[in-house]
Amino acid sequence: MYDYIIVGAGLYGATFARELTDAGKKVLVIDKRGNIAGNVYTRKEEGINVHVYGAHIFHTNNKAVWDYLNKFTTFNRFTNSPVANYKGELYSLPFNMCTFNKMWGVVTPAEAKAKIEEQRAEGEKARTNPDGSINPPSNLEEQAISLVGKDIYEKLIKGYTKKQWGRECKDLPAFIIKRLPVRLTFDNNYFNALYQGIPMGGYTKMVAKMLEGIEVCLNTDFLNPETREKLEKELASNGKIVYTGPIDAYFDYKLGTLEYRSVRFENETLDIPNFQGNAAVNYTDSETPWTRIIEHKWFEFGKDENGDDIPKTIISKEYSSEWKPGDEPYYPVNDAKNSKLYESYKELADKESNVIFGGRLGEYKYYDMDAVVASALERVEKELA
Ligand code: FAD
Repeated sequence: MYDYIIVGAGLYGATFARELTDAGKKVLVIDKRGNIAGNVYTRKEEGINVHVYGAHIFHTNNKAVWDYLNKFTTFNRFTNSPVANYKGELYSLPFNMCTFNKMWGVVTPAEAKAKIEEQRAEGEKARTNPDGSINPPSNLEEQAISLVGKDIYEKLIKGYTKKQWGRECKDLPAFIIKRLPVRLTFDNNYFNALYQGIPMGGYTKMVAKMLEGIEVCLNTDFLNPETREKLEKELASNGKIVYTGPIDAYFDYKLGTLEYRSVRFENETLDIPNFQGNAAVNYTDSETPWTRIIEHKWFEFGKDENGDDIPKTIISKEYSSEWKPGDEPYYPVNDAKNSKLYESYKELADKESNVIFGGRLGEYKYYDMDAVVASALERVEKELA
């Protein structure tokens, strides 16, 4: 008999399972997929760890989570420094002195600052009424120009945002962009995090280590009635289920379907060693249909586990796509309608006394990897108290 059955072998489930097992509990982990690691799953192809459900870069300021995961892996020194490709012009991201030098030829931080201020002032002028009062930005275009000026908006924000949201920036609300970090330094490290890297050997290897010694059943869908009945018979009378699948699916969508934003990936294996020289290149014009291209080998510096160069390369073109029920759920839509629906499901979930709902799907919440591990650690500590 199991003390806990954990539905989902992603980071939430794996963390929970590890901690319960180490506390002496008998645990079974199941996943409906044929692999562990959930959305951080990496699959080895041509000697390259391919991030199957989208590029994942671990970054955190949470030392406890960093130390925790370092028990199961060693992180490499990868730093996310994406490049923007606007009609063949390459710019450094996030916006920094390299970006400004390429955009305007400015050399010093003072020159860059003056140029940005000049462009922002022009944007403000366009929103100034005859009586001198200034209207607040009324849409995403005005908001972006008010933050970084017209040139950066036109080349690096407008087309990319349109592709991401499937709508013109003029038709999108201003609040979507609250801040656009502008760095008057040459720092092109995308994340402001103390700790950052990619698990050496891939995320799947890290999660396998977390699950070491724990019984795992793959290709097992908890929501299949027969499977569920069978599993529940194997649960101790005071046992619990930890459910990390979609909360609406658990309740058979009886209150309605929660919506997601989706991404579509097109993978290509190329018989060349180097396609773009960087892990991530964002295509910021509106004509290129994909939003970005990931070249997976550069997350690990183009080397295999023996430190040898890899002759081929694998790229993923990412497209924003409309989500429909049945598609892979990626990003929760935290608008009023979906948040309200989630709250109603949460009320039902709170009544399920022997089920713990957790993780990005169980809580219908965007969690970065560090946050999902922190959340699992916090919840399991409560459970074991
Ligand atoms: P999941 O990984 O989704 O695990 C849930 C598991 O439950 C899945 O394996 C699923 O198959 C299983 N399951 C569901 N229903 C059932 C069922 N009925 N029966 C059995 N099993 C079931 N975070 C970062 O920190 N850095 C990044 O760069 C980053 N990039 C991202 C890119 C994309 C495109 C997305 C969508 C997310 C990204 N994240 C990133 C967030 C990261 O993916 C999540 O934090 C993490 O995957 C959450 O883990 P989880 O265990 O909650 O969910």
